Amino acid sequence: MAEKRAKVRLHVAAALGEAQSVPLSRDQAHYLFSVMRLGPGDRVALFNGHDGEWQAEVIEAGKRAGVLRCLSQSAPQMNPPDLWLLFAPIKKARTDFIVEKAAEMGVARILPVQTRHTNSERIRLDRLQAHAVEAAEQCGGTYVPPVLPMRPLERVLDEWPADRRLMFCDETLVGATARLKAAQAGAWAVLIGPEGGFSDGERARLRSMEQAVAVSLGPRILRADTAAVAALTMWQLTLGDWA
Ligand code: SAH
Repeated sequence: MAEKRAKVRLHVAAALGEAQSVPLSRDQAHYLFSVMRLGPGDRVALFNGHDGEWQAEVIEAGKRAGVLRCLSQSAPQMNPPDLWLLFAPIKKARTDFIVEKAAEMGVARILPVQTRHTNSERIRLDRLQAHAVEAAEQCGGTYVPPVLPMRPLERVLDEWPADRRLMFCDETLVGATARLKAAQAGAWAVLIGPEGGFSDGERARLRSMEQAVAVSLGPRILRADTAAVAALTMWQLTLGDWA
């Protein structure tokens, strides 16, 4: 008889392993039992960001709480390449989009940065992190990139690791050949500017960094959210796990 397959994937905080029980939060219990209408005996696929994906069975289903039990591992842990995404937050819905797409496309962490022309002063970190979790739940991923608190780009560059290269998407190179030239694998980051673009000072600073590689994204100026997806595609195809 075919095994009952889980219809729902859920990110949890608990450790996952053979016969491990997993307590549910109030929100998770509400989602599984009231929204998805699961009950005792039903299957759920679980991941926590480091133990791979596990099939679990509902043991207790309450309105505000519940318990699952792990049965067997259904996928090994898959971590993304060592790639960070740095971007300047834009309008709320477009910022959400960038975080969601970055989580789907495979980045190790997400760093919102404040640039001279950044439109958005604040971000809701919990909301952005929730978008990354949801994206991983939906795309079958087992890793959730942490979203770090927003910091000024200058500070981030002051502390930039010597061994991490930076693919700097420079809108003034519009029309140049879109290629990561003579690039090497290893630790990388992609940097996308705000709707207003980088300031001359920022561009000069980035150009002077040994780790930075200025890159064109083709003959059209892209909106920041499009640019993020295009840049991650280019990096993944050239140096990442699509290569
Ligand atoms: N207002 C700016 C465009 C900013 S686009 C102008 O008119 O020049 C937002 C960000 O997307 C840029 O800072 C850059 O990082 C990236 N970007 C968009 N199109 C690009 C292109 N053709 N080449 C390189 N980077 C690009």
